[in-house]
Amino acid sequence: MSDNATNASNFIKTIVIDDLKSGKHDSIVTRFPPEPNGYLHIGHAKSIVLNFGLADEFNGKTNLRFDDTNPLKEDQEYVDAIKEDVKWLGYDWDNLFFASDYFDFMYEKAILLIKKGLAYVDDLSAEEIREYRGTLTEPGKESPFRNRTVEENLELFEQMKDGKFGNGEKVLRAKIDMSSPNINLRDPVIYRIAHATHHNTGDKWCIYPMYAFAHPLEDALEGVTHSICTLEFEDQRPLYDWVIESCETEAKPHQYEFGRLNLTDTVMSKRKLKQLVDEEVVDGWDDPRMPTISGLRRRGFTPESIRNFCREIGVAKTSGIVDVQMLEHFVREDLKLKAPRTMGIVKPLKVVITNYPEGQVEMLDAEINPENEEMGMRQIPFSREIYIEQEDFMENPPKKYFRLFPGNEVRLKHAYFIKCEEVIKDENGNVVELHCTYDPKTKSGSGFNERKVKGTLHWVEATQAVPAEFRLFNPLLQEDDEESTEEKTFMDQVNPNSLEIHEGFVEANMKDVKGGDKFQFFRHGYFNVDPKLTTAEKPVFNLIVSLKSSFKI
Ligand code: ATP
Ligand code: MG
Repeated sequence: MSDNATNASNFIKTIVIDDLKSGKHDSIVTRFPPEPNGYLHIGHAKSIVLNFGLADEFNGKTNLRFDDTNPLKEDQEYVDAIKEDVKWLGYDWDNLFFASDYFDFMYEKAILLIKKGLAYVDDLSAEEIREYRGTLTEPGKESPFRNRTVEENLELFEQMKDGKFGNGEKVLRAKIDMSSPNINLRDPVIYRIAHATHHNTGDKWCIYPMYAFAHPLEDALEGVTHSICTLEFEDQRPLYDWVIESCETEAKPHQYEFGRLNLTDTVMSKRKLKQLVDEEVVDGWDDPRMPTISGLRRRGFTPESIRNFCREIGVAKTSGIVDVQMLEHFVREDLKLKAPRTMGIVKPLKVVITNYPEGQVEMLDAEINPENEEMGMRQIPFSREIYIEQEDFMENPPKKYFRLFPGNEVRLKHAYFIKCEEVIKDENGNVVELHCTYDPKTKSGSGFNERKVKGTLHWVEATQAVPAEFRLFNPLLQEDDEESTEEKTFMDQVNPNSLEIHEGFVEANMKDVKGGDKFQFFRHGYFNVDPKLTTAEKPVFNLIVSLKSSFKI
């Protein structure tokens, strides 16, 4: 799929080109390695587009590998959702792997390390291990258990595996260097005890490898050539290399780091997203306000727009923060020619056209998409009663207000000029209806040019209008959460007004819209038919993005 190639050049691509040219590799293998402890978000899309894109471009392979070495947080629901999301983004993995299928291999490698005198069983508690580790300025201290004999270590490790100890009672540590300037090399824990049922291996294991030990072995076993991860792992690269070296794996994968994606106004940590789901701040992982792939899908973002966005932001060795408006720009671009144009009234105000014959309905012609003539024409009814937007009327307008006010004339898109003659109010003084007159000579397309009006309003014919719900979204967080470390502060930042629901109307011909259909509502923006909430009686439209933005690419 050449569309999926990473078209811009970047430093990782340069490395791949060099490695192929020098003969270091005949072909490349990349992997996308999510931990199935949550749903994928837009940050993961960056990694997906990079990994799959590189393999596509250089005729290599990409594995989807579930990095499922922590039984406490992982779940089959997440495995299924991740597969669906990767496919929806337009990618097909060459192999589907589970790190948990390699537990035997990892166990053998741990034994090899023990035999080589490169790993030992430690009885220190997690707390003590932390204390002994030292700091950036002070070297660490060796554990009193560091010099156990190979035989003793082999026996204890076997007992760990056989369930003879409780959680946290013992760990297996790599024996590297307690005074290394790189703290990651101060005898990192490589195996821990966790009496927990694993989603894939059930109760077979009660010891589990740590990420830093497991990940290089997974890469090696799969023949991954370029193991691409985010910048936080840069300091772990020496440990990655140590594991590959010490475990004597056949393949010698190499780790490369790139800057992770951060977006303005957007939470991007699975832990926090999970909290929003668990505490029911949102309606599930696929809530349209969520930056998850499934949330973006339900909101109406297209795979093309996400892929194009990920390519445009590029791949660098620094983590920057990208304006969320850039993502919005790409969905607008993608939908501009694809989405039919239509009219919808979010906050309706009834208008009676008093000089229009009672009982008459005429059909007016309108382009489906003036920017894409191939989409053809649609017909929309017009009659004596219509709805307009409440915001398009003001009883006492300021200067330069060109919409409807008493005595003023405006154009109705695709129809006629109407003039506001009378304002009807309820007993509380609220405007509930307008009485207008229309001028039959002004019909759209008739070439009428005797007088001009400044405002053009959208409208929907009232008797055939389809009741519809409109959902508009504001950021989930009131301000950037990057600074907050405490759970409480994070939940405090939740925006109580992130969802606005309005009951309005759409054109008569939209009765049968289906979940996932996308439209551009004149003057409002792009909307997606919500696949979960839409019923036969009432479509629900999610605002994907408004029409205009100050964003310049
Ligand atoms: P989170 O911190 O959101 O939980 P994670 O890194 O723990 O994310 P993983 O499931 O381990 O999530 O990630 C799978 C892959 O996606 C990793 O290679 C990781 O580097 C990459 N990734 C995750 N978040 C981002 C991001 N914001 N930008 C780019 N890549 C990301
Ligand atoms: Mg992770």
